[in-house]
Amino acid sequence: MSIVTRFPPSPTGYLHIGGARTALFNFLLARKHGGRFILRIEDTDQARSTPEMTNAILEGMRWLGLTWDEGPYLQSERTAIYNEHVDKLLASGHAYYCDCSPEDVDAMRERARAAGLKPKYDGRCRERNLGPGPGRVVRFKTPQTGKIVFDDMVKGTIAWDVQELDDFIIRRADGSPIYQLAVVVDDALMGVTHVLRGDDHQSNTPKQILLYEALGYPLPRFGHVPMILGPDKKKLSKRHGAMSVMAYKEMGFLPEAMVNYLARLGWAHGDDEIFSLEELLEKFSVEGLGRSPSVFDIHKLTWVNSHYIKTSSPERLAPLVAELLTPILGCAPDEALVRQIVPLYQSRAKTLREMAEAAAFFFVPTVDLTYDAKAVATHLGPEARQHLEALRAALAKLPEFSVPALEAAVGAYLNAVGQPFKTIAQPLRVALTGGTVSPGLFETMAVLGKERVLERLQHAATLLPA
Ligand code: GLU
Repeated sequence: MSIVTRFPPSPTGYLHIGGARTALFNFLLARKHGGRFILRIEDTDQARSTPEMTNAILEGMRWLGLTWDEGPYLQSERTAIYNEHVDKLLASGHAYYCDCSPEDVDAMRERARAAGLKPKYDGRCRERNLGPGPGRVVRFKTPQTGKIVFDDMVKGTIAWDVQELDDFIIRRADGSPIYQLAVVVDDALMGVTHVLRGDDHQSNTPKQILLYEALGYPLPRFGHVPMILGPDKKKLSKRHGAMSVMAYKEMGFLPEAMVNYLARLGWAHGDDEIFSLEELLEKFSVEGLGRSPSVFDIHKLTWVNSHYIKTSSPERLAPLVAELLTPILGCAPDEALVRQIVPLYQSRAKTLREMAEAAAFFFVPTVDLTYDAKAVATHLGPEARQHLEALRAALAKLPEFSVPALEAAVGAYLNAVGQPFKTIAQPLRVALTGGTVSPGLFETMAVLGKERVLERLQHAATLLPA
């Protein structure tokens, strides 16, 4: 049997961490077995769904590299199909019209609650044989006795007493289908064989199983993945930091780091932490999915990110860093220069944003360079300025600005004046970069190039002593 999985987000928000992880697991499950991965946009709730959010979700999926084989299907375009199924359920006696107002139903629930019972719709329209009419919803006639048992791919056997359920709505009064109905119809018609989703949907599964049975469709396998928690062990939410996947792009995370980290959030393969997509496809299995919630740890994600920054080629990183530099500089940077600076930061930067921010001094015109006032006061005193001036004269004679040539020239100068490297290291760094932190001085000078190094040394000499 070929495996067919799906990711069916509701476009009521961005692609968030939890959704992306669900999408990834489904993507891996299908692709590993040469199956199909379907993307379906569940936009039946027209009031809360927007095309902008659909686009944002697709953008997030593309960024992560979670390509889909089919879709995106839009549920809003499939109303006729859902109605056919509702009609079928009405005709077969599995569903009925109900004209109870939302207030009536609230009152029923309240009474049940007061009597210490489960708050449910009491089924009063079940046998009234109502036809269609304004304000009437369609409810599913839930069997009154029995158990629904299924073998969850993640959690093992799960059993529900049908008495836990009530006659749930499958079509709203405005004619739009309810999630429970639409999801079953779509999964069945699209041939979905495995439904892997967050365990916040676990309580929907018995209702959906009843609908599959009433419609005569074969059941898929269900699997419910435990939620993602914040460090305080509460459900991950905005309080814990950015939820949107694309916000992590903005923060300078690589998609491969994100995919690697999300995969490990609820799935394990021994003690291994680093997995390329190819390795994930090779090693992923539902057996590796954990039964307890996982905790989102930004430090670990950052660690994974720095691993990918270290091991990626500068060619791969340069355009991404350029994109992050653009808003910092107010214009697109010279890509060839970005390509040169990337290797200077790869071993130390935790995020591409950190890299872009730290490297901005390479790109700004000397006159616009921001000098840290404290660094100037500390390191550019009269003696340091004299050294820098003399060094500038020496460097001006250098025909070649390579790291060895610069090392030799600076070494010769220090020898001549009988000073150690540290006498000029920080003054030079402040003059060239505006601050006290930068990659190796000679590498920095080689990348800045002769013209800009001389220009900056001259400019630094004009800064007013603090
Ligand atoms: N549209 C639902 C959601 O976004 C899909 C749930 C499911 O996978 O069945 O939560």
